[in-house]
Amino acid sequence: MDLYSGHINKLIEELAALPGIGSKSAQRLAFHLINMPQDKVKRLTEAIQEAKANVRYCRECFTLTDSDICPVCANRNRNHRMIMVVENTRDLAAYEKTGRYEGVYHVLHGAISPMLGIGPGDIKLKELIERLKGDVEEVIIATNSSLEGETTAMYISKMIKPTGIRVTRIASGVPVGGDLEYIDEVTLLRALEGRVEL
Ligand code: ZN
Repeated sequence: MDLYSGHINKLIEELAALPGIGSKSAQRLAFHLINMPQDKVKRLTEAIQEAKANVRYCRECFTLTDSDICPVCANRNRNHRMIMVVENTRDLAAYEKTGRYEGVYHVLHGAISPMLGIGPGDIKLKELIERLKGDVEEVIIATNSSLEGETTAMYISKMIKPTGIRVTRIASGVPVGGDLEYIDEVTLLRALEGRVEL
């Protein structure tokens, strides 16, 4: 089924392997890329390579950042005794966009999912426990309201309870299964303000 040249097929194959890109989109993108001026293609490939080479985990909260420590953790004016646990860097960005959260974050990079074989050891939970040895007043669990997000929230709550640190969960009202990044700022703020004790 070699409708196109080997190089085009290879490009389509790589694009189709990206999340959310079906084979039709992959074909459309491939031809778009091929028709792009050389300097634009160069900028795009450099952006991909530079991001891959330079983006790393923040030493404290594990969000993806360009430096050793992210701007939120580096900010002395933030409340470092309040830690909001989120599933990924995009969720962190969604809360940052509200401009109203004054604490810091902890990015798990995933959620516990027995179905997908993702256990507690596969996300940044050990790192969270390590942080709790410091001066922490409250942990706000802001994982998604999907099955995986709820499972993770329960696990974290059980893990923290014995330490005596206050554990809260953002209010429901965040649509079930909804990715935090797609939820508007008002809903996010309401969920944060209406957080409940676990
Ligand atoms: Zn950080």
